[in-house]
Amino acid sequence: MVAPWDRRTPAEQSRLESAALSRWLSAVRAAAPFHAPRAAGIDDRLLTDRRGLQRLTPTRERDLLADAQAGASAVLRPNEAQVKATADDGVIAAIARAIRRDGAAGKRDAIVQAYRPVQLHRGGVGGDLLIASSRTDLDRLHRAGARAAAVLGLRDDDVVVSAVPAGPTLAHLGVVHLAAGAGLTAMHARGAGDDLDAVALAAGLLPTTILVVPSQEAVDLARVLGELRIGLRGLRTIVTVGPPPLPDERERVAAAFGDLGADVRVRALWGPSAGRALWAECAEGEHGLHTYPDLEVLEVLDPLTGAPASGDGDLTVTSVGWHGTAHVRFQTGAWVDPLATDACPGCGRTVPRIVGDVAPHAWELPVAIDGRRQGTVDLRGVGAVVAATPWVRAWRAELQGPDQRVPRDRLVVELAGEARGDLGDLEGRIEVAAGLAPQLTTGIPVAEVERGIEEAGGVLADRR
Ligand SMILES: [Zn+2]
Repeated sequence: MVAPWDRRTPAEQSRLESAALSRWLSAVRAAAPFHAPRAAGIDDRLLTDRRGLQRLTPTRERDLLADAQAGASAVLRPNEAQVKATADDGVIAAIARAIRRDGAAGKRDAIVQAYRPVQLHRGGVGGDLLIASSRTDLDRLHRAGARAAAVLGLRDDDVVVSAVPAGPTLAHLGVVHLAAGAGLTAMHARGAGDDLDAVALAAGLLPTTILVVPSQEAVDLARVLGELRIGLRGLRTIVTVGPPPLPDERERVAAAFGDLGADVRVRALWGPSAGRALWAECAEGEHGLHTYPDLEVLEVLDPLTGAPASGDGDLTVTSVGWHGTAHVRFQTGAWVDPLATDACPGCGRTVPRIVGDVAPHAWELPVAIDGRRQGTVDLRGVGAVVAATPWVRAWRAELQGPDQRVPRDRLVVELAGEARGDLGDLEGRIEVAAGLAPQLTTGIPVAEVERGIEEAGGVLADRR
């Protein structure tokens, strides 16, 4: 007997994780054009657990976009033989049922249902990455949504009104799947061009108990409800969509609704934009975002080396068991504290929690490339290249903003060690990985670079 998804012991969790990973990694290496060559040469028998997974190189949005438009080559495209060899038991069973019912046509339909992307959303720092989900994935999205609703403490008789603008985003689709998966009456009240008046008027039409709203608009929504004199007597929870608000922001939101006579708790709902599921804080308190360990493997990596971090770092997602876009150690760029893996002090769930501040796209910064063109520089790219350059003994990188002398952003990289090989080649590789041509300074004494790291940081954006 296996415990429910949120009550498993660490041993049980890791046993199930290994079972899911070994099947899924063989599917990915067989059928995702981006990942297949990267996993080549690693023995299948090594890719059966988290340690095996960590043999694979982490990927960033830039890597996926450089390989194919919109990251399309990370989508699983198995042929029949690969489906047979690598699909999980649920998919195999569905195919077998379809064959019994409709023969060869049934088999074809069942494979299409499991793998063809039927929903796409935009993810990543600029929304350039398309994340594909299949019909089978939609069932998982509903399951994840139902879980988020349960974690938030929503009940069967709750009525949800969402102020998240309609659009091809995880925030919008995640809230739609949450309500649908949990079977709640819900209105996604905000069209793409609507202001908050539209949401407030819609909320007034229903016995609304739950308002879902982008974090930065929660106080404004209370103000608009007040101005339009819409009383929501049964309102009890404000779900803010975005990284968990700071304590004083939370208090401001609760106070703004308190002024309307509503006694609400404020809970966050968030997931990285290129991910699949939204994670929720539990009804019992502010104990972090509760994740789904059977639907994804999470790691926190050192953003500069890609190695597992001992402290805070880059939230990294492996989308175990999902079809459509396969994320293998996808570095989301969200800066997080180490994951909490003890049981939640509020609700007792044993799932990993993201506790503390979350800063999405922390290492991906907008830059002025030449005065007119805007781009994004990914500072993690410097580390990825330099870490693979044997003669570099220490380094630091600084993004320096436009000043009176140079009217554009500059990526200044200081390198200690005796330069070998072609510096132009190193420069070119950093430009591809980071998105901006660097200015390299070599031959700096190690002690001097280390002093700079100590005083100012290893990688930073100096924009003040
Ligand atoms: Zn909890």
